[in-house]
Amino acid sequence: MNIVKKEGFDFAFNPKGCETCEGNCCIGESGNIWISKEEMKNLSEYLNISLDELRVKYLEKRGYKYSIKEIKLAEDNYACFFFDLKKKQCSIYDVRPIQCRTFPFWEYFKTRKDEVKEECPAIVEL
Ligand code: SF4
Repeated sequence: MNIVKKEGFDFAFNPKGCETCEGNCCIGESGNIWISKEEMKNLSEYLNISLDELRVKYLEKRGYKYSIKEIKLAEDNYACFFFDLKKKQCSIYDVRPIQCRTFPFWEYFKTRKDEVKEECPAIVEL
């Protein structure tokens, strides 16, 4: 797989790094895992459940948006509900939200290379 670069970022992403990682981008401090209305619809179809069931079981309302629920693993350590802890991978990979698809190229990390490097072994210095 090719190394991924994005304009405006002073690091690149080597997907090979994911092979040695146990899911650091889906586990860690509690955070928002935003999911849009359209993504909610796709996910409910993927799981074969209604939108209401999806909202109640797997999502949390935060302000006017929805975020995927987390499971507390330890103090200050949470996993996304859809992270398969045994297989160490996303269980809804094909329909994961855009936030997950665009990691690590988030605005937030544009000026915080050290932070993303600490979390993600796939980061390559440019
Ligand atoms: S939806 Fe999948 S990729 Fe996104 S945080 Fe959850 S487990 Fe990780």
